[in-house]
Amino acid sequence: MKRGKAGKMDQIIIEELKIFAHHGVYREENEKGQDFYVNAILETDTRSAGILDDLSLSTNYGEVCVFIDSFLREHTYKLIETAAERTAEALLMRFPFVRCVTLEVRKPEAPIPLPFASVSVKIVRGWRRAYLSCGSNMGDRKAHLDGAVEALRADAKCRVLRVSDWIETAPYGGVAQDDFLNGALMLDTLYTPQELLVKLHEIENTHKRERKLHWGPRTLDLDILLYEDCVLCTEELTIPHADMHNREFVLRPLAQIAPYERHTLTGKSVLQMCEELAAVTPSP
Ligand code: ATP
Ligand code: CA
Ligand code: CA
Repeated sequence: MKRGKAGKMDQIIIEELKIFAHHGVYREENEKGQDFYVNAILETDTRSAGILDDLSLSTNYGEVCVFIDSFLREHTYKLIETAAERTAEALLMRFPFVRCVTLEVRKPEAPIPLPFASVSVKIVRGWRRAYLSCGSNMGDRKAHLDGAVEALRADAKCRVLRVSDWIETAPYGGVAQDDFLNGALMLDTLYTPQELLVKLHEIENTHKRERKLHWGPRTLDLDILLYEDCVLCTEELTIPHADMHNREFVLRPLAQIAPYERHTLTGKSVLQMCEELAAVTPSP
């Protein structure tokens, strides 16, 4: 499926789907229940289905409605924020062609002691494209890198789309240590950048990653290189990865899986970064 920018894709629109459910902060709401209304905009690519008149190439909006109805009746949340969040996430995991969803949960009988028409929560959630680098130079290096891919594949909030070859590289940063095995991954994820970092740290920890020496030997290192068009610089996270353009061991595997992907800040393609780095690196 073509990857479109959120807000620029085709849309399937569901309006005012009425669902009797039990969400609310008050016990009475949980016991008695009330009517909720859902509006959903599914961002997807309807071109092939439209040309060929073939439903199997699109998302069945009837199934989506039944899914939302069952989901909101089977679960009970205090907040409509949570109802919206969980429903959006479940929809994105269940319907593979849906890239992004705008979901509004409306509660016209909300317990507000004033005259009002309706209250609602409206959120936008979607799959985000990310690129990771991975490296290992301790123990069974291949098993550590394969294990990282497996762990990401086992996570319903990640879809691993491409994996580079694992390449042998010399250590970087001046610490004398064994050679590395390095690679790059392309994935779509429902995690925010911060959540993805937490997930990567969890995977590193299952591989007994220790941080004794900066740029020292490690069983497994997983870094976020790029995340959608995100630019971030906080104490815990810098995206794009601050040093990616200077690292042959990052760019070479990345060029295998995404040669024309561009650095979010400089606009340079991965191939261009490889060429520029080679031009300033003395040959061995
Ligand atoms: P480098 O980031 O230069 O490759 P490293 O990978 O050896 O060094 P680590 O000890 O693995 O460094 O990570 C230190 C911290 O870097 C992490 O805990 C994380 O908070 C932070 N960090 C900042 N930006 C990123 C990023 N893009 N991907 C992963 N970690 C990041
Ligand atoms: Ca690193
Ligand atoms: Ca790291």
